[in-house]
Amino acid sequence: MATDANCIFCKIIAGQIPSMKLVDTPKTYAFLDIGPLAEGHALVIPKHHGAKLHDIPDDDLRELLPVAKKIAIASGAQDYNILQNNGRIAHQVVDHVHFHVIPKPDEKQGLG
Ligand code: 5GP
Ligand code: ZN
Repeated sequence: MATDANCIFCKIIAGQIPSMKLVDTPKTYAFLDIGPLAEGHALVIPKHHGAKLHDIPDDDLRELLPVAKKIAIASGAQDYNILQNNGRIAHQVVDHVHFHVIPKPDEKQGLG
C-alpha cells in the first residue's frame, strides 16, 4: 500500500493527525471535513496514497462510492453532492484522492 510521509491524509489514516472517523476498512477511510461546507460534510479516501484518481489502482477504488453512499444515507439528507477534484485548476488542495460527501440542508426546514 503506497503511503507518503508528507501527506496530511496519510497522516490522518496513520492516526498521527486526529480526525472524526466515520468508516475504517482495510482499503478505505472516511472522516468529517475540518472545514465543512455543510453539517456532516465528509471525506472518503483510499488508504493507498495517490494524488489523482488515475494514480489509484482499481482495487483500491471499489469501496469509495459505496462508502460515500452509506455516509450520504446516514446523514439523513434528501439532497447531497458527491465531489472529487483532480489538480489545482480543478480546485484540488490536498494531493491525496478524496471524495467529498456534502449533505444539503432541506430548504423548507424551519419555515414552519
Ligand atoms: P480539495 O479542495 O482538495 O478537494 O479539498 C480538501 C478538503 O480537505 C477541504 O475541504 C479541507 O477542509 C479538508 N482538509 C484539509 N486538511 C484537513 C485536515 O487536516 N483534517 C480534515 N478533517 N480535513 C482537512
Ligand atoms: Zn496520502
